[in-house]
Amino acid sequence: MGTVLISEVGPRDGLQSVKSIMATADKCRWIDALVAAGLQEIEVGSFVPVHLLPQMADTAAVVRHALTHTGVTVMALVPNLRGAQAALEAGVQKLTIPVSASAAHSLANVRKTREAMVEEVRAIVRLRDAVAPFVKIEAGIATAFGCTIQGAVAEDDVIWLASECIAAGADESGLSDTTGMANPAQVRRLFTRLRAAIGPHAGAAHLHNTRGLGLANCLAAFDVGVTTFDASLGGLGGCPYAPGASGNVVTEDLVFMFEAMGVNTGIDIEKLMAARAPLQAGLPGEVLYGMTPEAGLPKNWSPNVRA
Ligand code: ZN
Repeated sequence: MGTVLISEVGPRDGLQSVKSIMATADKCRWIDALVAAGLQEIEVGSFVPVHLLPQMADTAAVVRHALTHTGVTVMALVPNLRGAQAALEAGVQKLTIPVSASAAHSLANVRKTREAMVEEVRAIVRLRDAVAPFVKIEAGIATAFGCTIQGAVAEDDVIWLASECIAAGADESGLSDTTGMANPAQVRRLFTRLRAAIGPHAGAAHLHNTRGLGLANCLAAFDVGVTTFDASLGGLGGCPYAPGASGNVVTEDLVFMFEAMGVNTGIDIEKLMAARAPLQAGLPGEVLYGMTPEAGLPKNWSPNVRA
């Protein structure tokens, strides 16, 4: 049934959406537990101005700690060239740049037009080529499935922007359901078009569970050939405008789905669930989501059952 790569985004996407600040040592313990569970790619933080996101002030230190592990790709989000400089100095192995398909969201989020963001990608690629040619660059197309400001986002805009980012030198471009508006038919259609447009440069599916469609959307993406999925332990990164609904797809549930189907994730689900403990210890009082952790594993469950 194949193999997928689960990219854990909790330490970045999750932590930047919660109000409390997790201590550096707690972040490091959490990352250690994620690596022990078999995660092979972790987005450990973002390089953004401290006054905007104080939760991410220690990202360089967290990167340095994560780099002490082998077998895991240490990723960080950078919104601009200055962030990329800091990330490359810290030794990050993969950069992800958010590029909004919604013109309105782009202006609101990074105060740049979409075209200006493509130029930012080009500048980051030039820097990477000069100082760290082995670092991979991903452009994550944000609001690819809809936008809370603009409403519908034209599919042509999404494919155009992903193609522009690849033309600007990004290694991969994936699609993000930033606002939790995607449905499986749309996911199938857009990832099929993405692959037709940029072939092997088509990247990760970053899908949210805001309206309960997270796993259905992941499965739809898998069915049309997507093999990298972003997810967040405990669904951290809850959606502030939908209390009780988690934002990011829950890593534990996603791993359970794939492993139960006989799709290899390389992740030990029991150790993955154990990684909730250091997360909860670092963020006391924060609600963690997940159906599999609540229900427990089925009787006689054996990990990595192959269909
Ligand atoms: Zn997200």
